[in-house]
Amino acid sequence: MSDRYAVFGNPVSHSKSPAIHAAFAAACNQDLAYEAILAPQDGFADCVRAFVAGGGCGANVTLPFKREACRLATRLTPRARLAGAVNTLSFDAPEWLGDNTDGAGLLRDLTHNLGCPIAGMRVLLLGAGGAARGVLGPLLDAGPRRLVIANRTEASAHELAVRMRSGGEVSGCSYPQLAGQSFDLLINATSASLAGASLPLPNGLFAPGSLAYDMMYGEQETPFLRLAGSRGAARLADGLGMLVEQAAEAFRLWRGVRPATASVMAMLRSGDRQTGSR
Ligand code: NDP
Repeated sequence: MSDRYAVFGNPVSHSKSPAIHAAFAAACNQDLAYEAILAPQDGFADCVRAFVAGGGCGANVTLPFKREACRLATRLTPRARLAGAVNTLSFDAPEWLGDNTDGAGLLRDLTHNLGCPIAGMRVLLLGAGGAARGVLGPLLDAGPRRLVIANRTEASAHELAVRMRSGGEVSGCSYPQLAGQSFDLLINATSASLAGASLPLPNGLFAPGSLAYDMMYGEQETPFLRLAGSRGAARLADGLGMLVEQAAEAFRLWRGVRPATASVMAMLRSGDRQTGSR
C-alpha cells in the first residue's frame, strides 16, 4: 500500500496541494498517496488522530488549523516554535513532529525564483497573522536593512515586532503610520485579497525598482498587486511560487529528497489559465 499523506483544512476543496504532491511523487519516483481532508472547525484533532490510526505518515495543515496543529505536535522544530504555527506534521509513533515551511518557501521563491536578494533591503510586511508569523524569522535571517510590520490591528504588529526584535531591525505600526516611508520589497501577508479588499496604504510606499509580493494567488491579479502596479512597483509577484516551494520543503522532510519546482509551477499556471481555478 502507498504511504499516505494529506492536507487538512476548512475549506480545503480548492487546495492545490494534492496536485503538487502527486507531481512531486511522480518526478521523484516515490510511492505515495496524498488527499485533501475537510476537518470540522471543532474536530481537527480527532480527524488527524483517525488519519494516523489509518496509517497516515505526514500531513500539511492550512487555514484555520495551523495554531492548533502547533499545540497538537509532541515536538516542534525551532522555526515552528518561533512562528507559533505548524503547516507540516510528520508522524513517527509516538512522535508528532511539527514544522513550518512557509518561511523557507517564501524565501526560496523570493531569492531563487525571483532573484530578490533581501539583504540590505527595506522590507514592509503587511499583516500579523499566521502567515506573517511563519515568514518573519526567515526574512530577518536574510539580513534586510530594516523590516516594518504594518497591520490593521496595530497592537498585533507591535507585539510581533517586540517578539522578534532579537533577530534584527524590526518595528510595528498601523497603516496610516507608514506615511512618508518607502520600501524595496513589500509583502502582503494579510487575507484582505481573499475577500477582494484593498489595503488603506498611503502614497509613496513603493520605491523605484521595488518588488510587490502577494502571498495570495489566483488567475486574477489581486487588489494589492493592482494597487502596487498603479503606485509604481517595478515588479509584481503572487504567492503561487511560495505555495510550491513550501510544499517542496515538506516533501523533503517526509521523503528525504527535494523535488524540482519549476515544472510544477508551470503546470499550475497553465491549469489556472484553462480552468480559472484558484
Ligand atoms: P490569518 O487569518 O492568520 O491573518 C489574517 C491577517 O490579515 C491579519 O493580519 C488580519 O489583520 C489581516 N486582514 C484580514 N482582512 C483584512 C482587511 N480587510 N484589511 C486589512 N487587513 C486584513 O491568515 P494567514 O496569516 O494564515 O493568511 C494570510 C494570507 O496568506 C491568506 O491570503 C493566505 O491564503 C496566504 N497564505 C499563502 C501561502 C502560500 O503558500 N502562498 C501560505 C500561507 C498563507 P487583523 O490582525 O487586524 O485581523
